[in-house]
Amino acid sequence: MHSESITKKQLRGMTRIRLTKEFRFEMAHALWDYDGLCKNIHGHSYILAVTVIGEPNNDKESPKYGMVMDFGELKRIVKEEIVDRLDHTFVISSMSPHEKFKGIPQMLDRFEVVDYQPTCENLLIDFVSRLKKRLPENVKLFSLKLNETANSFAEWYSEDND
Ligand SMILES: [Zn+2]
Repeated sequence: MHSESITKKQLRGMTRIRLTKEFRFEMAHALWDYDGLCKNIHGHSYILAVTVIGEPNNDKESPKYGMVMDFGELKRIVKEEIVDRLDHTFVISSMSPHEKFKGIPQMLDRFEVVDYQPTCENLLIDFVSRLKKRLPENVKLFSLKLNETANSFAEWYSEDND
């Protein structure tokens, strides 16, 4: 009897569930004034994992019944805010003499100047603020993981920053 009531409670949407969607994009960057190889213009095949948390929709009349969030909606938001903007884009800090690159538009159709050093860490901070503005009210950003290479990644967790 007891376990049955817990199951019913869970089905009513009392349980928080995390959803994760993974994205890939190719981005070039250069770390201005850095003392290592990454000061050179180079690219990475980034892998971004976005995890959100919420309770499954409990409204049987809703087309989103049983879902924390439609994976398709999460995909649309992340593509609009991050992937479509940064894929095949050269990203550089505003501290660099970035105006010089504007003379060769044939090569820099996709060029973005950001007000931070475009490290994995700072990219995540930027992504968090963009995604938080777009997520539905009942869904919270739980974590982001950004792989710069197969064995190097940075992570942001909501609980680390409350
Ligand atoms: Zn790099």
